[in-house]
Amino acid sequence: MLIDAEQLTHYQRCHRRAYLDVYGNPTERDATNEYLLKLIQDSQENQRGFLSRQKFVQPEYQAYDWQAAHAATVALMRQGVEKIFQGVLLSETAEGVTLKSNPDLLVKQPGRSLFGDWVYAPIEIKLGKRPKLEYQVAVAFHARVVAEVQGAWAEEAWILLRERGTFAVDLWELLPKMQEILDDCTQMLLQQQEPEVFIARSRCSLCHWLSHCHQIAKQEHHLSLLPGVTPTRYVQLQALHLTTVRSLADMTPAELEPLPGFGREAAYKLVRQARSTLHNQAFLIEESLNFTGTLPHGRAGLGFHYPNELHALLDIPSAAVELYFDIEAEPTLNLAYLHGILVVDRVANSQAFYPLIAERPEDEILVWQQFLDLVWRYPQAPIFHFCPYEVQTVERLAKLYGTPSHLIDPLLTRFVDLHDRVTRAVTLPVESYALKPIARWLGFNWRDPAANGAQSICWYSQWLTTGDRTYLDSILVYNEDDCRATHHVKDWLVGFLMESSLQTAELA
Ligand code: SF4
Repeated sequence: MLIDAEQLTHYQRCHRRAYLDVYGNPTERDATNEYLLKLIQDSQENQRGFLSRQKFVQPEYQAYDWQAAHAATVALMRQGVEKIFQGVLLSETAEGVTLKSNPDLLVKQPGRSLFGDWVYAPIEIKLGKRPKLEYQVAVAFHARVVAEVQGAWAEEAWILLRERGTFAVDLWELLPKMQEILDDCTQMLLQQQEPEVFIARSRCSLCHWLSHCHQIAKQEHHLSLLPGVTPTRYVQLQALHLTTVRSLADMTPAELEPLPGFGREAAYKLVRQARSTLHNQAFLIEESLNFTGTLPHGRAGLGFHYPNELHALLDIPSAAVELYFDIEAEPTLNLAYLHGILVVDRVANSQAFYPLIAERPEDEILVWQQFLDLVWRYPQAPIFHFCPYEVQTVERLAKLYGTPSHLIDPLLTRFVDLHDRVTRAVTLPVESYALKPIARWLGFNWRDPAANGAQSICWYSQWLTTGDRTYLDSILVYNEDDCRATHHVKDWLVGFLMESSLQTAELA
């Protein structure tokens, strides 16, 4: 069996990923998504940029012949070349596992090794902004294998970060940590213990086992599909034998509240979420708390006393003209390349979509000006968006382009974050409170079901590379649908709150 630094990185993010990469059925893997390919290409580009300023030697070997790669790398180390790019070194563990180290660079340093008066130290070249722990663990892994091959420890090892430059890894601190992770990973793989599925959007979204794992989670009605069930809380729930949505829905929040990682609000939210999912129904926050009659009405909930107070408390304006706003951006370039605005005129009963797109990155400032012109054409119109990103970007662009405060300060008061309003008002039977699952549950469909923000970034990159306008058109369709989905959610939420208010009034 062979373990490399990439596998250790996957193991730290998800034990199951490391297991499936060795024992999973390759036909059940998703195709590599375009966004991941773009990240790989960007990373390679970053490496090339750094290496263009360096002199290095690369060992020659046939792809995947790791023994030959090891021999060629050791030959270069023996010769004492200054820098070795993409060397491969192997070492055996006591359990008979082969460790394969392939640092981006091996750099010659003063010292004493089996090869002479020098030692080699590993360097990793990373696109990321921060020296993440997983990067440091990878470097410590390389340092260990290199030490075994050359019979001496390097004093230092580094990560080269695109924005922060050189980061020295503290090997004294990282080596024991790395060893612990390596031992655990080795045991899991040798004993073939398949870790349980646990869907966590942040780490699963780019994993090639997502469809496979999600299917299993669906079949098992796995609790990780419930928003609010974190790995820590899941352990606590398992200890109470709460392994199904129904069992969780039958609990009272007071029973969960004292558990580590819960607390009052999380306990209420989780029970409410389980009941919403079990019955496939939207619940007003306080209504859901009382769904089984296990809790008293009133302020024992999360702060909303009567449903008819909700609309006002949540501050969801309705106006003759409303704007629905969604930005597409490339985070690695810090570039907002599209401001999409849907203008809904309720009096004229008309809708118009304005896609303000920067066809070249340097046009961002022009598009920013067009955006300001458009939103100030409707000075009374509330601007609905989903999540805080749009407001943050408007603030950033205003600062970047020196926009006067009289144009920005009043504008910011017009923004209404619908994600905030939805999550404060209702519990929905969805796997996540992102725009797509919510709007889809409400019956809205995107014209391109596979489109998403990451895909939009890829399309923009492909447009810049090829000049093919079909990529731009795809971005515009996706962005318009996001704006329309936001509009759909807003109308539904207002209708739902009004209906709830009427029902309450009838009961009173
Ligand atoms: S989809 Fe998620 S749970 Fe499954 S292997 Fe990947 S990261 Fe792990």
